[in-house]
Amino acid sequence: MRGRRLIPFDGGSYLDREGLHMAQVVYETKACMRCRQKSQVTVDADALKRWQSGELVQRAFPLMTPDERELLITGTHPECWRAMFRDEDDED
Ligand SMILES: [Zn+2]
Repeated sequence: MRGRRLIPFDGGSYLDREGLHMAQVVYETKACMRCRQKSQVTVDADALKRWQSGELVQRAFPLMTPDERELLITGTHPECWRAMFRDEDDED
């Protein structure tokens, strides 16, 4: 694929995408704890680098909602989190 390269990174990897925004990359999350699906999140390449170098996620991605940060860090979808907690509450 022309213009596409995989850049290995600790704890994940991201693709450099051509044609969209040069500074944005697609980050693949871990598998969701509930539905086991991985997600792809488009993030700022520089912020991703800073986060993976140890910067706090809320400082690297100040505009993200807590749900989006949770997805980025754990791969767990907001609706899956809620479903898991609801399941726990329902169980006796
Ligand atoms: Zn899920």
